[in-house]
Amino acid sequence: MIKSDYHLHTSFSSDSESPMEEMILRAISLGLQTICFTEHHDINYPDNPDHFDFLLDLNAYKKTLFQLKEKYKKNIEICYGVELGLMPSTHHQCSAFARQDSFDFIIGSTHIVDFMDPYDAIYFETFPSKSGLEHYFEDILTNVRSFHDYCVYGHLDYAARYIKDPKFNFQYADYSDLLDEILKTIIEDGKGIEVNTAGLKYGMSNPNPHHEILKRYFELGGEILTIGSDGHCPEHMAYDFQKIPDYLKSLGIQYYTIFRNQKPEFVKL
Ligand SMILES: [Zn+2]
Ligand SMILES: [Zn+2]
Repeated sequence: MIKSDYHLHTSFSSDSESPMEEMILRAISLGLQTICFTEHHDINYPDNPDHFDFLLDLNAYKKTLFQLKEKYKKNIEICYGVELGLMPSTHHQCSAFARQDSFDFIIGSTHIVDFMDPYDAIYFETFPSKSGLEHYFEDILTNVRSFHDYCVYGHLDYAARYIKDPKFNFQYADYSDLLDEILKTIIEDGKGIEVNTAGLKYGMSNPNPHHEILKRYFELGGEILTIGSDGHCPEHMAYDFQKIPDYLKSLGIQYYTIFRNQKPEFVKL
């Protein structure tokens, strides 16, 4: 069983209302050994109907986390992380944010392309399915080439979750130049990627990223792979984690990764 969830949000993220303590109690009841909170911090997130700003109150977050870390230290290990929303225009600010404190773990993620979140219908109305995904990957490539203050890249094909076209079928070959370049850049930079089980909640047949991307990552020599539910409420903690060991082993993967002080440690599946 996978005992670590390395992608979690609480009420310190704009899009969650879950108190951190409730998340911790759920993790303990599930028998997890380590959890890492990765609250959103998205600099220049565009205006949206929900008025989410996705800016993290780091002092308040840190204070609560370290109080609860101490309170529950006999029951579970709690790590201090953040999910940075990356855009080519905010690399300097994201670096300054990442370097100001000793995070255990930093996820770099693309949530916004051309000031649109693929989660919002307007994105795929502007770019049809295949070109929308291609455009998403282009932005990731720009990010991984010049931004280095992260541990793993989050939900690498996040945009694919929101493609409505029933005829759309992801094929690695359609994006192989871009994806190979992204994966090689991540690997050469000593970074990793994650398996994000939120994709399964959206009715996808596999977690993000698509298994062909995961397979290629390992073929190219990638080793660092964290597992995260991207849960925003207690019920989604460690979502579908029971499916993951067999799934990864079927792709020839034997280890997953956890981080402390931004250093990877490998755990056998
Ligand atoms: Zn994300
Ligand atoms: Zn997230």
